[in-house]
Amino acid sequence: MNAFTSSRDNTQATFTHAIFHPNASNSGLWCPKSLPQIDFQALANQSYTELVHSIFTALNLDISPDILDSALSSYKSFDDSSNPAPITTHNLPDNLAILELYHGSSRAFKDMALAPFGALFSTLAKKHNKKYLILAATSGDTGPATLDSFEDKENISVICLYPKGGTSDVQELQMITKEAKNLHIFGINGNFDDAQSALKSLIHNPDFQKELEAKDFSLSVANSINFGRIAFQIIYHIWGYFCYLKARNLSYGTPLSPIIPSGNFGNALGAFYAKRMGLPLGKIIIASNPNHILTDFISTGTYDLRGRKLILTHSPAMDILKSSNVERVLFELFGFERTKELMQNLDSTQTYSLSPNELATIHEYFQALFCPDEACLEVIKNYAKKSLLLDPHTANAIYAYEELNKNTNSTEHFLAYSTAQWCKFAPTMLKAITGERAKDFEAIQKIESTFKKKAPSTIHSLLSKPIKHSHVLSSSPDEIRSEIIKIL
Ligand SMILES: *Cc1c(COP(=O)(O)O)cnc(C)c1O
Repeated sequence: MNAFTSSRDNTQATFTHAIFHPNASNSGLWCPKSLPQIDFQALANQSYTELVHSIFTALNLDISPDILDSALSSYKSFDDSSNPAPITTHNLPDNLAILELYHGSSRAFKDMALAPFGALFSTLAKKHNKKYLILAATSGDTGPATLDSFEDKENISVICLYPKGGTSDVQELQMITKEAKNLHIFGINGNFDDAQSALKSLIHNPDFQKELEAKDFSLSVANSINFGRIAFQIIYHIWGYFCYLKARNLSYGTPLSPIIPSGNFGNALGAFYAKRMGLPLGKIIIASNPNHILTDFISTGTYDLRGRKLILTHSPAMDILKSSNVERVLFELFGFERTKELMQNLDSTQTYSLSPNELATIHEYFQALFCPDEACLEVIKNYAKKSLLLDPHTANAIYAYEELNKNTNSTEHFLAYSTAQWCKFAPTMLKAITGERAKDFEAIQKIESTFKKKAPSTIHSLLSKPIKHSHVLSSSPDEIRSEIIKIL
């Protein structure tokens, strides 16, 4: 059941192997060997859980139904476990709806995949009698979702590094108030890149590996290159398509274009796979922020890191230049030899270019736009007038809708993805809506009283929880390493 292959050579693996060892040979990523064609229409009335089973079976993933079911029970922590990703059409134009991907515990879209992935990973680790150390570096959203997902899970310890002072107060409290004994959270004196580099150098340090082995631990990561996360991220695109048809009373086959606020391209990759397997999606619209390397790539066919500097924007989860999952699109469309060549060009010259034919193929699937930061605030303000609170990431998608809708005759249908709830980015929301500056919880209260909307109680209760992790480390890998070994 080797359903997977490296994006850069012929090495093959099972889904389980791909989960435990997310990096494939030749520095590639694990990709499905071939995608099945699925009769999606026959799945139109399935529950969310049934849909996951259908797609996992079609993809030949070697997970038994009972293990998958127990992983999916993690959706019980969502607002509505039978509908983890609801859509809304309220106060929206006739050709637009919003798919809300933020109903999990951390209030951002990462929960959609990390919640079941954490449960699955832990069950498999137990089954194979192995203990895993999961390393995570976060700029804000991945950390809380990873910690929630591995909280109290057997055979798993998590080390989570975040830039001290570099996240919002809500995000920091979501991490440092965690009580579970298997979760260890450290602030790092430095920015996200420092935290990430420290982590990468540890992963590649053979001495550290030996120290872990001596303590009977294997090392893994839970970032979005892990196909175990991507697998769960295919489902809600299909779910969203059917919800849209029902909400707008349309028949199967009507093209619907998802608009996806994108960073590392994991979310958009799920939509691409669904379209490749036969879901009647229109173009997949990639919405970027002022770090618009994806917009440039999809428009011109050239991925160019030269002279680019990362810009800090109002949508920090999309502040990324090396968008890892693009590689999986290249593999799926152009094969491993070409992918290897392009990725090696990127490593050695910081850039690569598709041929005109290849670019035309990309355009069969994707279109891309980016939203300037000022326009992002403007969108938040305008929609707040209609009593719709869009977080800054979601606002990038709505901006793309407005731009596209100017040029169509409104017979095209769009589903904009909301990747975070407004309360996660309340200071930016308040700044956009009233121009005021306030810290997280003051901003949340002001917005709540203006709009008569409540942030979830899990956000409010963060303030009264005791702080359990206050250790701040330098970004030196050696200091982090000795701290980890001490803990284990
Ligand atoms: C992670 C994240 C994104 C970007 O998703 P990718 O899969 O990395 O493209 C967008 N919005 C929010 C709020 C996120 O947390």
